[in-house]
Amino acid sequence: MYVIKCRECGKWRIIPTKEEFETIRVNFLLESWFCTRKLDCSCEQPEDVKYDRSHIWVLDRPPPETERLVIMRKDLSRMDTYYVMPNGKRARRHYDVEKFLEENPQYSDTMSPSSFSFSTPKIVKETVSMSSMWRSLG
Ligand SMILES: [Zn+2]
Repeated sequence: MYVIKCRECGKWRIIPTKEEFETIRVNFLLESWFCTRKLDCSCEQPEDVKYDRSHIWVLDRPPPETERLVIMRKDLSRMDTYYVMPNGKRARRHYDVEKFLEENPQYSDTMSPSSFSFSTPKIVKETVSMSSMWRSLG
């Protein structure tokens, strides 16, 4: 189950499917999300779910034993996303993750290429708010 926070009223809304959540997640880099974007929903309606830290984990949290780095280029033109893998190597795209798992099959239980997100926000400010807003109920 996935939840997202409305920028307008701050209520948590349930997003029923992973596909829908991923679509919003990608689009959210470009625009804010509001209750009205959910079918038959508005800011007037009661909150779908109470935020509870014990049951929520951040979707953007990197897979175990990895570290996610978002680095601004020197000329400030754009940001690059890397993951530092358990072997210390950097992964810059899904191909690198697949290659790592081929060479280190023991990690395939705890991570999959789909749990890595290489999309980069356009603005630093967005990165900060994104990580606090994207959560998934386990
Ligand atoms: Zn709202």
